[in-house]
Amino acid sequence: MNELDPEKLLESVARLTEKRNRLSLEICLTQTMFELLAVEEIALYRFEIDQANLLVRIDRKGCWIQDDEIDDPDAAIPVIRDTGFIACAHGREVVMESVSQGNRYTFPIPRQDRLIGFLRLLSVRDLRDDRRLIEGFVQIYWNYLKLIEDNERDKLTGLLNRKTFDDKLMSILQTSRRASLARSEQGQPERRQNDGGSCYWLAVLDIDHFKRINDTYGHLYGDEVLILMANIMQRSFRRTDLLFRYGGEEFVVVLKTSATEDAPSVFERFRQNMERYNFPQVGQVTVSVGFTQIQDSEIVAVVITRADRALYYAKEHGRNQIRCYETLIAAGELTAPEKRFGDIELF
Ligand code: GH3
Ligand code: MG
Ligand code: MG
Repeated sequence: MNELDPEKLLESVARLTEKRNRLSLEICLTQTMFELLAVEEIALYRFEIDQANLLVRIDRKGCWIQDDEIDDPDAAIPVIRDTGFIACAHGREVVMESVSQGNRYTFPIPRQDRLIGFLRLLSVRDLRDDRRLIEGFVQIYWNYLKLIEDNERDKLTGLLNRKTFDDKLMSILQTSRRASLARSEQGQPERRQNDGGSCYWLAVLDIDHFKRINDTYGHLYGDEVLILMANIMQRSFRRTDLLFRYGGEEFVVVLKTSATEDAPSVFERFRQNMERYNFPQVGQVTVSVGFTQIQDSEIVAVVITRADRALYYAKEHGRNQIRCYETLIAAGELTAPEKRFGDIELF
């Protein structure tokens, strides 16, 4: 930045700090710095295990945003294959490299003793004088990220909370609605798991006879069971699966399976992990699970109702079991609600 305009700077910070969700914060940070610094390109990466995963990239042509629906190999860079990322990860200092289009700067995004990401700028002009400013923005970013993440999570178990469930599911359904519209415009049929595509599942997990645990051992032990169950969930599902504490002793899992995976075995593995765990003092605790496949173009309440019906069936038929709504319908154990003429289709 050649001339620092305090008003513009203040405006940028205000814009940044009004964001309430992670992605809009990340887009806003990248966009703000792109405008303020007049660079060729700016990109934000999240550092996970040994990869730098691209979240947002802006250049003069436009803005690229990570999309879970699209597998983009360029969006996940093994840190070991990138000189800038390696040097930055080791030194935890900004790294400058000379590349054909100008200078490439890689800034570390640290949080306490961990590295959580990288900010990468490509610039023809020298950015050395702007270093403090960029580091200041990085600091604002991670302060706000921490706030956003704390608000997304349930205080007791650390899982995502009910409010986040509403936001995340809404966005999954919007994405699948867009994909469905695009498919129908191209004359392709609706997506189903057995047609080779991936699909989303939603499960409701409910502890069996939890009230008894509270009544027998007290609320503190009850709370301990909730915390330990959340740990078992984290061990049983993948890092990319979404795990929520939905209500008191009810949890929700939203996961995506590929054509070769099957959802029942994923939920069954979790059920068994619960059954086998020896809870301190309390001993064995079991769960019932009801799950359903998320279809294109539907609304959150409808999905939850289906999973709930399967859960209720599991409770009624002996608990400590997993039940799939679609399987129950196919077997005639449950009846599907009739589709009435004039039902509203929401887009
Ligand atoms: P079921 O097998 O039919 O699910 O029986 P249940 O006893 O688990 O179900 P019910 O819905 O009757 O009871 C749920 C209990 O969960 C009642 C409530 O006191 C307890 N509970 C809800 N939230 C919390 C919490 O945060 N901590 C503790 N310790 N207990 C909670
Ligand atoms: Mg229960
Ligand atoms: Mg319950």
